[in-house]
Amino acid sequence: MTNYYFAFCQGDVLLTTEGNIPFGDTPPMSFQPWEHVTDIQADGCCCHVYRLERPIVGKEGLQMMPLRASFDVLSQQEYALAGKAAELIYWDQNTKYCGCCGAPMKLHTPISKRCSECGKEVWPQLATAVIVRITRFKDLRMVEEEMQPQSSNIKSSNAPIEEVLLVHANNFRRPYYGLVAGFVETGETLEEAVRREVREETGIEITDIRYFGSQPWPYPCGLMVGFTAKYVSGDIHLQRSELSKGGWFTRDNMPPIPGKSSIARALIDDWLQAADCRDANT
Ligand SMILES: [Zn+2]
Repeated sequence: MTNYYFAFCQGDVLLTTEGNIPFGDTPPMSFQPWEHVTDIQADGCCCHVYRLERPIVGKEGLQMMPLRASFDVLSQQEYALAGKAAELIYWDQNTKYCGCCGAPMKLHTPISKRCSECGKEVWPQLATAVIVRITRFKDLRMVEEEMQPQSSNIKSSNAPIEEVLLVHANNFRRPYYGLVAGFVETGETLEEAVRREVREETGIEITDIRYFGSQPWPYPCGLMVGFTAKYVSGDIHLQRSELSKGGWFTRDNMPPIPGKSSIARALIDDWLQAADCRDANT
């Protein structure tokens, strides 16, 4: 069984200079000082999870990298395990003491803790968020008006023009456009959360909400659940406390979009590729 060593310092993961998670029979001594958090088994390997007290710099053969950036160098499996390790470290830091009686919590299984006094058990809790790709077909009469007086091509084509709703959230760190997203509230279904978030953040109504896929989002402990939906009615009125920009975009007029590591990108790419398939079939 291969032993992997997932070591983090303030959100940065330790990698070899070749871009791998360190592995071997024993952890490199240069990890120290560290705090061992837990061990998890996965697909025939054992993952040892450590929190480093200080970042490791200047050690031959090792480098530190932000977890999100490690998506570009790690294998899919290693990136997924690194995300899980990061979530467990966050969980460990936030469950040192019992929420009921204040006594110290002790690791009970690799992914659960038990109170040393009252016996209360806790597991890592996920913050579930929904994200939705909303599309609509542009009214051809509007297209003709926009294209006047060169509207002859539009009039001769019956192909509807599809648009996607893209927004820039205030918390985006880069100037790209993504999708409407938000946290699920207590007592809501996922579909209700999608409908509410879209109404709150953009003022529009949607229908045909369909599941697309999901993605662990270890920043710090999320699960993103992706949906597609169709526009029904309403003009866009952005909730300025959440979104700074937003609008409808056609496939040939796309703004910068999120990186490949996100489900937002997967949802957008799926829509762009649907057009490629359609074009190939015509
Ligand atoms: Zn307790």
